[in-house]
Amino acid sequence: MASHEEILADLKNRLGEAEFGRVTMESRLFWQSSLKCQRCGNSCVISDPVVLVEEDVQKIAKRFKIPYQKALRKYTKVLPDGRRSIKYLTPCKFLDSKTKLCRIYEDRPEVCRKYPFLAATPAFVFPGECPASMELYNSAKKKYEKIPDDPTYQALTKIFDANPALREAFRFLNFHALAVRAGEISEGEAMQRLSGYPNQKALNLAGAIGCAIFEQREIVNA
Ligand code: SF4
Repeated sequence: MASHEEILADLKNRLGEAEFGRVTMESRLFWQSSLKCQRCGNSCVISDPVVLVEEDVQKIAKRFKIPYQKALRKYTKVLPDGRRSIKYLTPCKFLDSKTKLCRIYEDRPEVCRKYPFLAATPAFVFPGECPASMELYNSAKKKYEKIPDDPTYQALTKIFDANPALREAFRFLNFHALAVRAGEISEGEAMQRLSGYPNQKALNLAGAIGCAIFEQREIVNA
């Protein structure tokens, strides 16, 4: 049986670099937006480093009502490659050992928010220590096995095969909807990008199809 790496290499080979990147990015956003964090704290025990960006430190400083420089000194360290990380790890300083919950959950660093979807590609990484990702993997596997028999999927394939511009618009719309759901971009940013899409007619139609699916209307023969 082929490994994940072999499947991805084969996919990349067949799709080409650009299409492979788009497909894997869309899948990652889909998985990311569907994940229901169980707040198990498992990765908070073993992760090292937990890399921080400037905004993360600003949020920590605000949360503890201390100046930015003090937050830098108190809670962060510089890694050999120049990036910053939370200072005390394995387990993380912010993990409550009794409740197993993050004490700064609402202000947790970006990397913690995105976990387990840290890399843009490959998209199909489900770490065993994350029960939410394993749950998602199992339910998605079941769902995907049924997709080819789904009447909505079959109807869409027919419509898109006859109208490639509509397929592109639908993908564009879907990508941005997922990115908003996954917290990657704001609604305002998504609207701005959508308003710049060159084929607005196709985009509007794609939006109507999206709404129809969302409302579970019958779209066969649409
Ligand atoms: S900051 Fe919170 S979510 Fe991130 S590793 Fe530490 S305890 Fe876990």
